[in-house]
Amino acid sequence: MTGTTVPAADLPRVTYANTGVDLTPLHDFLDTRLPEFKARILGGTYTNCINGQSDTDGTSFTVHSPIDGVTELGSFIAASEQAVGRAVGAAQDAFPAWNAMGWEARVALLRAWAKILYARKYDLALAALFEVGKSRVEALGEADEVFDMVSYYCDEMERHKGYVTPLNRVFPHESTLSILRPLGVFGVISPFNYPAALLIGMSAGALVTGNTVVMKPSEGCTLSARIVMDTLTAAGIPAGVVNLVAGGARTGAALVEHPGIAGVAFTGSYRTGMHILRLVNAGPYARPVIAEMGGKNPAYVTANADLAKAAQGVARSAFGLQGQKCSACSVVYVDETVRDAFTEHLRAYTATLLIGNPERRETFLGPVYNGAAAHRMTQALDAARGQGSILFGGKRADVPADLQGGHYFEPTLVAVEKGHALTRDEQFLPLLALRTFTCLESAIAEGNDVLYGLAAGIYTEDATELEYFLNRAEAGALYANRASGATTGAWPGVQSFCGWKGSGVTLKGGLGPHYLPQFMREQSRTVMED
Ligand code: NAD
Repeated sequence: MTGTTVPAADLPRVTYANTGVDLTPLHDFLDTRLPEFKARILGGTYTNCINGQSDTDGTSFTVHSPIDGVTELGSFIAASEQAVGRAVGAAQDAFPAWNAMGWEARVALLRAWAKILYARKYDLALAALFEVGKSRVEALGEADEVFDMVSYYCDEMERHKGYVTPLNRVFPHESTLSILRPLGVFGVISPFNYPAALLIGMSAGALVTGNTVVMKPSEGCTLSARIVMDTLTAAGIPAGVVNLVAGGARTGAALVEHPGIAGVAFTGSYRTGMHILRLVNAGPYARPVIAEMGGKNPAYVTANADLAKAAQGVARSAFGLQGQKCSACSVVYVDETVRDAFTEHLRAYTATLLIGNPERRETFLGPVYNGAAAHRMTQALDAARGQGSILFGGKRADVPADLQGGHYFEPTLVAVEKGHALTRDEQFLPLLALRTFTCLESAIAEGNDVLYGLAAGIYTEDATELEYFLNRAEAGALYANRASGATTGAWPGVQSFCGWKGSGVTLKGGLGPHYLPQFMREQSRTVMED
């Protein structure tokens, strides 16, 4: 694959799956970089960006880190409805020239952007660490991913030669072709858990295909968005081609309700995504909404599994980023005959995962995102106690006094009955539900019987079981026998990431070969040659 060669560096790159690499030099480097980042970036005053200009029209708000609830990340502006309107207008004005520039020139500009993103990857990683409470490795993985993401979409544009396809001729003297063309302004709305990667991925998809963009990041993650905006400016993106409006649901609503929006790229919860889909398509004609939404991702552990590997993969996917990944494994189906042995492996592996301040190199689990998540955890634990049992974890973690303003929970395994809410609803918490089975087919049917269909995993050394899983699991991303993660760890160009059922609406995935055409509409052109 072209375009994914990274600049020479002494320090290792972090993918979500390279678990065996010695990251000591990287941690040593971060030990020096962290205080410098805090002094340079945190606590600043940050504005929006409309038509290449700093914009302060709106209401200011302050964000604190979930790590301790006290560290101030910065002061930002929730854009007013008028500011959103001006941002859409700027993007509309910028569209003709951006489109006319041609895909080759856009690819060149986006490749320059990717290099700048790479150069600023430690700022992106540390912003995510403080905004989301990500461990160092999770944050670095996200920052490393964005380079490959932008490069991959550029590769795809080149591979398809700008999506111009010659067609057949009925008459010898006619020239025919199909061309995919951009639509106009895309509203790009991102969630909190991957503050850089998702904003960048969706924006890159829209931009490389010739659309212009108004970005609306998650309210608490505006710092990352501001760094992303700065990298675009540094790459020479023309004024108005990308605009940034911060704020929460109100700003997002003003954006998706604006008649100048030609399409929406959204990543977030099922509830918000479906609301936006219905709203945008209530108009006189359909407009694309590329919505990637939640998940309830099962893993299956059969009697023919390597149980140590299964325990590691399940724990990493269930508890990495505190279970706050759309692809987090949140229910595990285990063959009854290996239930006790698997549970012991899982307990032992989980005991090695340290909870604490994500600034520290040894931390695997940081805090859950906010008070609402902590409340959900408490309620879920009550539900598990009432109609099931807690096999390990199940309470707030002991953390030092300086972290008391954060919400830290022990990674938790609960056993529940068939149909329990914890086997069906997305929790987005460090909470894993366990079910046992005597028949893999029935377990897979049960795992499929949910609203979602994002990711699923299996551990088995039996080819027939594996084949059955691959053919029957209803999810867009399937994994087998992965120690680095049962259901998590998709990487651009390596695992396309398509949400089935309530996990997505377009039946095509991000990170994969069918992503870009969703940002374009087809036109056939017939020109008579005589
Ligand atoms: P969320 O739905 O609460 O918010 C997502 C974004 O939508 C935010 O920017 C928010 O401000 C905005 N928003 C909220 N209401 C809006 C409205 N009425 N109109 C327009 N915009 C509005 O999601 P979240 O809590 O930030 O993120 C977690 C969710 O995202 C989980 O469900 C997770 O599974 C999902 N997610 C999915 C993927 C994927 O690729 N499928 C990736 C990451 C996260």
